[in-house]
This record gives sequence, C-alpha cells and structure tokens, in this order.
Amino acid sequence: MAARLENLLNEIEARRDDLISLTQDLVRIPTLNPPGDFYHDICVYLQSRLERRGFAIELIRAHGAPGDSDKHPRWNVIARKEGSQPGECVHFNSHIDVVAVGHGWTKDPFGGELVGDKIYGRGTCDMKGGLAASIIAAEAFIDLYPDFAGAVEISGTADEETGGYGGVAYLAEKGYFTPERVQHVIIPEPLNKDRICLGHRGVWWAEIETHGHIAHGSMPFLGDCAVRHMGAVVSEMETSLFPMLASRTTEMPVVPEGARQSTLNINSFHGGLEEPEKDFTGFPAALVPDSCRMVIDRRYLIEESGEQVRSEIVDLLEKVKSERPKFRYDLKELWQVSPTMTAKDAPVVTSVAKAINAVMRQDPDYVVSPGTYDQKHIDRIGRMHNCIAYGPGVLDLAHQPDEWVGVTDMIDSAKVMAHALVQLLTDEPTDQ
Ligand SMILES: [Zn+2]
Repeated sequence: MAARLENLLNEIEARRDDLISLTQDLVRIPTLNPPGDFYHDICVYLQSRLERRGFAIELIRAHGAPGDSDKHPRWNVIARKEGSQPGECVHFNSHIDVVAVGHGWTKDPFGGELVGDKIYGRGTCDMKGGLAASIIAAEAFIDLYPDFAGAVEISGTADEETGGYGGVAYLAEKGYFTPERVQHVIIPEPLNKDRICLGHRGVWWAEIETHGHIAHGSMPFLGDCAVRHMGAVVSEMETSLFPMLASRTTEMPVVPEGARQSTLNINSFHGGLEEPEKDFTGFPAALVPDSCRMVIDRRYLIEESGEQVRSEIVDLLEKVKSERPKFRYDLKELWQVSPTMTAKDAPVVTSVAKAINAVMRQDPDYVVSPGTYDQKHIDRIGRMHNCIAYGPGVLDLAHQPDEWVGVTDMIDSAKVMAHALVQLLTDEPTDQ
C-alpha cells in the first residue's frame, strides 16, 4: 500500500476521540421524527463543523413538503468541498432524523453514553454513527490528499423515516442528485461494515374497500355484510395469492433471506362500527357492517413490475366478484416505489468492494434491503444509478431500545470510505 494511503488509514485511527465526541454530539440533538424536531439545530451543528474544514455549505428548507411547517420546518444541509482540479463528485448522504424512543431503555436515549466500544442512544446505529464515520473519512481524506480531483459532498437530510419527501426527494427534485452534478453516492445506513447494499425491493400500498348494506344485527339477512365480503377476499388470498408470492424467486440478494421473495402484509382491517373510546363502558350497537377497509403492503421484486402487482390484486377481486353475489369493491392505490438494484460492476460498488478487501482483508457480501430507503429518490427522481448503502452498525439494532453503534465498526467503515475516495478522486495506485 502506498505510504500516503497507509497514513490516511492511520490518521482515521488517530481521530478515534474526535469520532466518538462527534457521534455523541449528534445523538444529543433529539431529532425525533415525527414530528421533525431540531432539524435546524443539527444542520447548523454540521455547518459549523464542516465550514471550518473549508466546505461550502447550503442549508435548504423543503418548503411545502409533507410535514413542513413553521413549527417543524424540514431543514437539510449539503456541504461541498472542491478539489484542486476538476473531476467527479462523491456524495455521502445520511438522514438526520431518528424514530420514537419507545419503551425498554436502560440507557439515556439522548445521552450518547460510551460503554467500552459502544455508544448508546436513539439514532446511534440508524444512522448518526454512519454520518459521523463519513465526516471523519472525508476530513482525513481532504487533509492528506489536498490535491484531489473533483469534489466531496456530505449531506444531512430530513424525514427518511417517514418517506424522505422533506429530505432527499425534495433535494433530488431541485437537481442536487443529477448525474451531471453527482457521480457516486454512498448512503451510510447501518448494513454492517463488510456488506454493500445494492438497493431495495419495490413497494405497492393500496386500500381495498368492500361495500355492504346496513341493517339491524338481529336480522342480518335484511342487510349485506361488508366484512364477510372482505373475508372472501382474504380467503382467496390464502388459497391463491400467498402461495404464488412465496413461490417467486429473485436474483436480488435480499437479507434477511425470508424476504427473498414477494411478500404481502395485511397492514390493517376495519369493518363495522368505529372502535369506541377507551373509557366508553357501554355495549356496541347491533348493526350489519356496510363497509370494510383493508390496507395491504405489497413488497415486490426487480423481476416484477408495478403494473403486474396491481393487476394481480384487481384479478383477484374480479374473481371474487364473479363468484359472489352482491360483491362490490373499491381499490385505492396509496403509494408505489419501484425496486432498484445497482449493478455489481458500477464504479461505486467496485471501489467500495476493493476498499473492504484492503481494510478488512475479506470480500464483501452484496445485499439488498427488504424495505426502501432514500436510494429510491436518488434513483427515480435524481436518475443517478451509481448509488449504494454502506455504513457501520448492526441493522437489527435499528429502531430498538438500547440502540448502539460500535466505535471500532465506525472506524473500520470510515477507513473503507476514505479508501474508496482515494480510488475515485486521486491517481494514487491502491493495488497491493
Ligand atoms: Zn436509516
């Protein structure tokens, strides 16, 4: 390994204390989403840190995005450091929001307590640890390779946990993720330091409503029960749809392996009377339900199309209709995200793979996420397909009580990120 590259990796090791305190500072800003607290505070914190390192900073509020209000403005930060000559731009994108704390904590969720090699707190793993690792990697790279070509960008973006519309989607719409502006994107989500996440499955959410006719519950034959109609839909799903989905295979290396197929979740089911208030002590009224609603969450594969996913459900409903007198339904599509998978020979993939090999002396695992993350917006709105998720942390810890991130894992992944920067933005040979 070239001496300067060796120095870079040693320098990251030497910045261990800085990495720890940076992660703690980020965790101590409680950027809960919903509702979207303290976004401006964390953006200003990142601004003041990166401005001192010579980054040009833009603070961008996603005006008019879902959730944006004067009380909870959707702030984002993009920091850009130009190299000494023209070249490509490598962008590290991290979301700044964290999910609700929930129950079962034994540590202060916003304390950032360091115990041994672990830093505890909501968002340590998902994904302030990844953000901190990318900052340390970029800063050390810039210090040791001031002659680099192109640009390094670091962004902190809002609302990933609620769809990313006040964050990456908004920025992509404003042109921040076009292939003309950004050539490589790494999203430091917690996928484990030796795994490269190439993309995610697709999503199709819809609401099915069946209609009936209201009547007195003592004489159901005078009405038409919407819940029984929906029962027929569920029954048809059990006999035909679920087995068919489970039989589909994919070239997508989805983890966990149980998600390496098409799946459908029945997200909610409501029929008849509304749920009473918790303190209501009376009895329910005797009524035949005239409406039943079911929300379904269908996750699909790169081998399937959104149109196919939709028509499977329509065909199923039409089959029930043809077999069942008085069956009436409505289908409302709620949300759709296309599956995405970056090619294994894309430059950002091969350079991170080579970096994992150099830093950790092992070949990476290539994975695909069962659920979506901000890559969807970079891919579809930004039209930038050279994008992966790579970062420290154990995915299973995300959103859990006593969430933590390992300091050694952050250092190793920061080394990988810095090694990839050397490959992508300098002429230095990195073969050993
Ligand atoms: Zn995340």
